Amino acid sequence: MHELSIATAIVEQAEEIARTDGADGVSSVTVRVGELAGVVPDALHFAFEVAREGTALSGASLVVEQVPALAWCGGCAEEFAVGMPPFFWCPACDRPSRELRSGRELEITGVEPVPAPT
Ligand SMILES: [Zn+2]
Repeated sequence: MHELSIATAIVEQAEEIARTDGADGVSSVTVRVGELAGVVPDALHFAFEVAREGTALSGASLVVEQVPALAWCGGCAEEFAVGMPPFFWCPACDRPSRELRSGRELEITGVEPVPAPT
């Protein structure tokens, strides 16, 4: 289950970001996951609950923003959804395109610190 290694990496990076910001803990982490990133959101949520144990994220929740896979057609100058499984063929002009614009994202976009206890 490779989601566990991804979740562990997310936890480690979020801890690092929180530490840099001087936060004691993290209340939530937001990640962008592309349709073609090969990550199952349900599995990622489950893995996150395992990976956060004993870390600064032990009380944190995971927010997954899914990014649709879009390719660019130069002929139409428009993006089209490649779908799942991906099909790199413009539906408008019936020509192939492999110019992927989005869909492989796997990145942390937000780390929400726990409010300071003052
Ligand atoms: Zn086209």
